[in-house]
Amino acid sequence: KEMLRLENLKVKVKDEVILENINLSLNEGVHVLLGPNGTGKSTLLGAIMGLSKYKVSGKIWFYNEDITELSPDQRFKKGIFLAYQLPPAVRGVRLKDILKKILNIDPKKSLPDEVYTYLRELDLDESFLEREINYGFSGGERKKSEILQLLLAKPKLAMLDEPDSGVDIDSLKLIGENLRKISKESNLLIVTHNLKILDYVNTDSVVVLLDGKYIYKDGIEIIHQIEERGYEYVRRLAYAQN
Ligand code: ADP
Ligand code: MG
Ligand code: MG
Repeated sequence: KEMLRLENLKVKVKDEVILENINLSLNEGVHVLLGPNGTGKSTLLGAIMGLSKYKVSGKIWFYNEDITELSPDQRFKKGIFLAYQLPPAVRGVRLKDILKKILNIDPKKSLPDEVYTYLRELDLDESFLEREINYGFSGGERKKSEILQLLLAKPKLAMLDEPDSGVDIDSLKLIGENLRKISKESNLLIVTHNLKILDYVNTDSVVVLLDGKYIYKDGIEIIHQIEERGYEYVRRLAYAQN
C-alpha cells in the first residue's frame, strides 16, 4: 500500500535550488535514505515535514492525500513526525512541555505513566523532563529525547535524520531496540551513514539520493554493494534508472 509519494519535487533554501526532479513512491514499511554529505537528505525530510525554510514546488502525497500546502503542525496531526539531525535548543521550553504538547494534554496535568516507562527504557533520569529542550544535552541525550517524543507521538510515518550520529555504543543499542519497537507500528524513513542501525529493523527499501536530483531505489540486498563499492557505483545505477 502506497504511503508516501513525491511528485516532481523541487526544494529551494534562500533561492538556492537544493533538490529538483525528485520522484519517489514509498509503500508502507521501513525505508533507509542514503547519500553523500550535502546531497539534500535533511532537506528532503524537512520538506516532507513542511518546515518553512524549505520552499517547495511539486507535490507531496501522504496516503493519497495532497499535503503539500499543510503546515508542519497539520502534518504532525496527519501522523508525520521528524526526529531532527540537530535537534534545536529552545529557551524556556522544557522537555515535559514538549511531551505534553505531543500527547495533547493540559500543561497543568501530570504526565502519564508511559513517559516514565520510556525514560527507564532509554536510561534517562526523570530530572531530564525539567530540562530546557536540548540545552546542554549531550549528543546521545538529544537523540534519546527525540526517540522519547517519537515513542509518545506514535506517528504513521517517523522520519529519523541520523538517529545514530554522535551516539555511544550503549545508547546506539537502546536507540536501535526502540526503533525496532517503533517499526512494528510506524512506517520509518531513516537517514544514516552508519548501517549498524539497520541490524535492528527489517528494511524494505533502500533509497539513495545523489546530487539533489537523482534517486536510486532498490531492495536491502543492494546495501552490501554500496558498502563495498561506494556511491560512485550507485551513481551509475541511478543514471540507468532515471
Ligand atoms: P545532507 O543532509 O544530505 O547532508 P542537506 O540537506 O543538509 O544535506 O544540505 C543540502 C545542501 O543544501 C548542502 O549543499 C547545504 O550546504 C545546502 N543548505 C542547507 N541549508 C542551507 C541554508 N540554510 N542556506 C543555504 N544552503 C543550505
Ligand atoms: Mg549530512
Ligand atoms: Mg543531513
